[in-house]
Amino acid sequence: MHEWALAEAILASAKQIAAKEQLKEVTEVTIKVGELQQVEPPILRFALSQMKAGVLKDAKFRISKAKSTLKCRVCGTTWQFNPKKMDKTTAEAIHFVPEVAHSYVKCPKCGSPDFEIASGRGVWLADIKGAR
Ligand SMILES: [Zn+2]
Repeated sequence: MHEWALAEAILASAKQIAAKEQLKEVTEVTIKVGELQQVEPPILRFALSQMKAGVLKDAKFRISKAKSTLKCRVCGTTWQFNPKKMDKTTAEAIHFVPEVAHSYVKCPKCGSPDFEIASGRGVWLADIKGAR
C-alpha cells in the first residue's frame, strides 16, 4: 500500500519543481527506484496515473530501477549489490527486508559485514520535462 503514499510524495515534489522551473505543464517525469527499496513499479505507476492532476495531468511517468552501491565501513571498498549472485531465498529476504542485507552481505575485499548503502536506497526524481 505504501506505493500510494509514495505516489503522493512524488507528485507533490514534481509539482514543486514544476513551479520552480515555471513549467505550465509537465510532460514527463523520470523516477528512480533503488534496488533495495520495496516498491512495485506497476503499482506505483497505477497510483501515479490515478492521482495526477493540475500541471501533471498529462505527464508520463518513467520508472526505472537503480543499482545499489555498498560501501565497506572498515576498508572503504565500494561494490555493487548483485542479488543475482545470491541464492534465491537470500535475495528475496533482502528484497523484502533490506536490513537483512547486513547478515548476508560481506565486503569482497576484507570480509567485513559492516557496510553502508551508498546509493540505491529510496526513491527520487531523476528528471522532469515540460513546457513553459
Ligand atoms: Zn572492507
